This record gives sequence, C-alpha cells and structure tokens, in this order.
Amino acid sequence: MLELCRAADVKPIHAEHLRAAIYRYGQTDIDAIAELPLQLREHIHRHTSSFAPACTASQQSADGTKKLLLGMADGKEVETVLIPGKGRITQCISTQVGCAVGCTFCLTATAGLTRNLTTAEMVAQVMAGRKLTDRNVRNLVLMGMGEPLHNYEQVAEFVRIATDPKGMAFSPRRVTLSTSGLIPGIRRMMEDDLPCNLALSLNATTDEVRSRIIPLNRKYPIAELMQAIHEYIECRGDKRVLIEYVLLGGINDTLADAQRLVELMHGLKCTVNLLPFNPYPGSLFERPDDRQLTTFRNVLVEASLVAVVRESRGRDISAACGQLKTEVKTSRRQRHGSL
Ligand code: SF4
Repeated sequence: MLELCRAADVKPIHAEHLRAAIYRYGQTDIDAIAELPLQLREHIHRHTSSFAPACTASQQSADGTKKLLLGMADGKEVETVLIPGKGRITQCISTQVGCAVGCTFCLTATAGLTRNLTTAEMVAQVMAGRKLTDRNVRNLVLMGMGEPLHNYEQVAEFVRIATDPKGMAFSPRRVTLSTSGLIPGIRRMMEDDLPCNLALSLNATTDEVRSRIIPLNRKYPIAELMQAIHEYIECRGDKRVLIEYVLLGGINDTLADAQRLVELMHGLKCTVNLLPFNPYPGSLFERPDDRQLTTFRNVLVEASLVAVVRESRGRDISAACGQLKTEVKTSRRQRHGSL
C-alpha cells in the first residue's frame, strides 16, 4: 500500500487509511473511503483490480457451524468454516486449492494440489466470514484445505496482515497455523518470529503408522519433527504448541499408542487435542470406539498432560475438510450428466 502511495505521489499516511479501511472495516469500494485523495483513488482504479469471492455453496449445522464454498477469480473453489464458541466465532481458513501432502484420512488429499492461494485470497476468506457474522470472528485457524507451510510466503504475509494492529488486528494468540510436519517451514516460522501459534498434526506415535497415514513423515520422521518442535518452543519462549491427534479406530488408538504419546510429549509445553475421526463416504478409516477414546485420554491426563477430546463440529453437515467441495462437484457432474 505504501508502494501505491509512492506511485500515486501522495503522502504515506494514506497507506494507513487504506489498510484500515480494507482490512479492519472490510471496505472494498475505494470511492467510499473518504480520506483518500482523488489522485490515489484514480491510481488504484487504473493499476489494480479487486475481486470478492462468490459463495457458491453453503451449509449450516444444527450446532451453528457454517461451511462456505468460495469461488475465486479463476473459478477455483475453497472451503472456509465458521465455528461458533462461547461468545466468539473461530474461522478455519484454507491456504491452498487442494493439498500435496496426501494424508490418507483426508478427503482434500484425494484431488492433489491444484495451486497455492494468494494472500489476498486468504484475506478475502476472512472478509467473507466477517461479513456473514457481523464481524464476530475472533479466532483464525489455518487448518482448512492445504498445508500452510507449503505456501509459506503467502501464508506468512497473511498472518502479518491478520495480526497487524493497523490491519485486521487479530491477537497473535488467536491465530493458529497447523502443519502436518514440514520441518523447514517450522524453522522459518522460528527465524521470522511469525506472530501466531503453532499446531502440529501428529496423529501417530510410530514412524511406521505415521508414514502410512501422512506420507510426509518418510522425509521428516517423528524424532526429527519433535526435535524441531522443542527448538521452536525454546526459541519462542513462552509459547505452547498444540498437538493434534486424529484418532483412527484400530490404527493409532491403542493403549501402547497413548503411552508412546506420553513419552513423546515429555518435557514439551503443549496441549493435546484428541480428535475422533469423523468418517465420510468412502473413507478408509473408522471412528474409534468410545471406551478406547476414554482410556486413551485418561492415560494422557494421568501423566499430567493437558488433553482435550474435541468432537468435530458440524457433524450433520459435510464437516470433513474437502467434503462440501466434493459433494458439490459430484452433484454438478450428475446434473450435467443427466442433461
Ligand atoms: S490433512 Fe491437511 S496436510 Fe493432510 S492432506 Fe489434508 S489438507 Fe493436506
């Protein structure tokens, strides 16, 4: 925005007006931003283009969770989810169209990666969420479609805009980036002191099982990953990491797994989120048995770990990541096929 001011030969202070109007107040009509000089508005009209993603499908769950499918300028679609909580809404943001990681429990993985999202496309998701919720989104989680650290530059810029007090003004404590374990990306977050929380989608306690469900583990095995997480915490001082563990019935939910997880978490400042798998049509895995789930959690709690079971929200709608997109695609195909 400073560049725009320089190019239009107006005072740099107008970059702040522009930033606040767009990022903080969601204004997309440049002519409605009264503080901007005519010269700058004309320059913006001549040299930039704007777009607002179209909502191409949406679903609302009985628990209030809303899932939106947003169409970008090139027609590619991504999901964003609005999850209500106590007095605040958490929005789940996508960072890529599809994903290259190939986790075997994830529907998004089945279509592979189409492309990275731009920073603007991530900002546009927040703007769409804010518009729909009367600006009540308080937390952002980068846990939607895509591996955020595979799109580091654009994601880092988005995090900076989201947490800029003169931009979207989210507290860095309320922005969480979730990775499947890309060690070089975790190290970059450290070096750049990226203002957000880190979540690790761990999901297994042995390399044999983890490599089977998250192929990236073959390149970045558990021991190296945990070493990187320890370094991250040491470097960031007061930070805790969030460890996500999707429990797949009969695969990673045994007593031995729980005990190994306790060992892996030894000395780590962390909260463990246990996420019972939510099967979708055609999925290869099952939800764990409730008794198994309780036993698993108890082992962690007895070892003084902070462990919380988080049921997937919006279970009565297409709640799994990528499911709404898949369903819409299938029904479009069927409609065209029947013409
Ligand atoms: S779980 Fe996340 S990282 Fe794994 S394939 Fe799905 S979107 Fe990608």
